[in-house]
Amino acid sequence: MTEKLIKSRYDASREEIATLLGDAPKYRLDQVWQGLYTEFQEPLGITTVSKDLRTRLDEALPSSLVPVTSSVSDRGDTTKFLWQLANGGHKIESVLMHYADRATVCVSTQAGCAMACGFCATGQAGFTRQLTSGEIVEQVVHAARTSAARDQRLANVVFMGMGEPLANEEAVWQAVTRIHEAIGISARHLTISTVGIIPGINTLADRPLPVNLAVSLHAARNELRNELVPINKRYPIEDLMQACRKYLAKKNRRISFEWALIKDVNDTPRDARELAKLCKSLKPSAHVNLIPLNPTPGYLTKGTAPEDVREFAMQLEDLGVNATVRRNRGTDIAAACGQLAAGQPVTLSSRSVVG
Ligand code: SAH
Repeated sequence: MTEKLIKSRYDASREEIATLLGDAPKYRLDQVWQGLYTEFQEPLGITTVSKDLRTRLDEALPSSLVPVTSSVSDRGDTTKFLWQLANGGHKIESVLMHYADRATVCVSTQAGCAMACGFCATGQAGFTRQLTSGEIVEQVVHAARTSAARDQRLANVVFMGMGEPLANEEAVWQAVTRIHEAIGISARHLTISTVGIIPGINTLADRPLPVNLAVSLHAARNELRNELVPINKRYPIEDLMQACRKYLAKKNRRISFEWALIKDVNDTPRDARELAKLCKSLKPSAHVNLIPLNPTPGYLTKGTAPEDVREFAMQLEDLGVNATVRRNRGTDIAAACGQLAAGQPVTLSSRSVVG
């Protein structure tokens, strides 16, 4: 070892690990890199290298995430992991979902979130700090290791956990690159979800990999969206659609809109018509993911009833727009969309007080 690394295990670059290995032959670096990124090993488990080297790597490349608890739901098919950040002690969560033939992990990109969407538990708790790319990648590696233990391949990564990915675009992009190049998950299996940060969408459009873009729309007119997704006051719908059009033109990928259905707020025939119009203003038309609103402590307005969710989906189909109703995973362990708060206290939004 020639120098002590101050970076965490998955923040360290290949060059930095090479420096740690000193004059060891080049294949040693490959062994260590593969151990970390394709075998999902802890340094002490990389048995292709000597015990002495393993011990030194373990000291030099500390993990960035300390496990606190994990909660299991859906008969073992959904697991929520609560982590403490080794640097600073803040808490974050990630959610691993197993399907018949593959697994998907939903990762956090910030501790907390500054976007203040009143119906989202992360938004209710406020912002703490940005995550580093290594802290994001380590959530993915841990999920891949857990999946491998049940003979399942981690196939998809969705940046839909705590935080706003495009308010931490640089670190998120570094994580995307590492997940793509070192772990080997292709861009079409990576999805970044955004509240609609236009400069972030523009930067993403100029990045080399065509990752999927999901936009958390929730309302198709500014008056209502200003209320549900406050950042809309800075980045209104017309400008957001323009940024989406630019992204589509560059990436040749379909965009999806997320829509959490809130009873009597955004689930009326008028909302379906306005949403359909926005979807069809994009080419190809946007796909809609309908999420029945999940309960959160700070928002008392109810979600749309299941039969009305189906009705809303049918109205969209009749208007020529494809919509999928998301199956809610892990609501009993507060692991579903918008429920991740990592145990933080929340504040009541104004709508929840009047609603
Ligand atoms: N900040 C990013 C990433 C979070 S993704 C974004 O907003 O896209 C989490 C998704 O769950 C977003 O679409 C968010 O709007 C949605 N969501 C938040 N609270 C929810 C709730 N209570 N019920 C259902 N979906 C919710």
